Amino acid sequence: MVEPYPADYAGNRIRFHALFVYDPAAESAHVEFDRQALHFFHKLSYGEGFTYDTRTDFPASIDSLSQYNVVVMLNALPYGEAERQAFQQYMEQGGGWMGFHATGYNDNDTHWPWFNEFLGCGTFLCNNWPPQPALVEVDNQQHCITRNLPTQFVVPASEFYQFRPSPRSNKDVEVLVSLSPKNYPFGIKDIVNFGDFPIVWTNKKYRMIYLNMGHGDEGFIDATQNLLFTNAFRWVALPEWWVK
Ligand code: ZN
Repeated sequence: MVEPYPADYAGNRIRFHALFVYDPAAESAHVEFDRQALHFFHKLSYGEGFTYDTRTDFPASIDSLSQYNVVVMLNALPYGEAERQAFQQYMEQGGGWMGFHATGYNDNDTHWPWFNEFLGCGTFLCNNWPPQPALVEVDNQQHCITRNLPTQFVVPASEFYQFRPSPRSNKDVEVLVSLSPKNYPFGIKDIVNFGDFPIVWTNKKYRMIYLNMGHGDEGFIDATQNLLFTNAFRWVALPEWWVK
């Protein structure tokens, strides 16, 4: 794994390397989010605080992945055996991962048990439809990712997935943000009426963060959510930089 350079006073060094993977053939609302995400992260890279590559396929070797301090999977997952194995190896060797929305979707056709263990939740159970804004609650206000956020805020319209079992029942998982039960009944066509609904969490066995947002064209219209994304990206790329 490459070691990030420390920040210097001039602040003019490249500090880490990121890989963004997205799938241009995914459903249009996911591609919409992904393109806006690439634009958002591109702006974060101004001044080369980090450099990045973008790919629409997954590296099939650990050597290619090991160049990166963080791999950001937008609405895309590896499907090939070699790509999956390379990713597992990368994470088990201490790689960083940030995943949005459909990267967490899994059902009986996914056939990747390790990824379920990695994600720390069960299978997809239900979703709201259509996409809509939601009131969310911060579960841990002390965490580096959430401590500068309000304890409750409204996130822009998205489709949200609920999983069973909930990641909260996994002792290795730390839930950071959940959908508030005050949203119930949540949805208009597909309605979620109850259930534990974490939407941002980390599996502490890995350097990873999963965020359930990622559907449609409103993912980056809200400063609070953008701050959450920025915090999560920095934390997973460079956890040692945060003052404890
Ligand atoms: Zn979606």
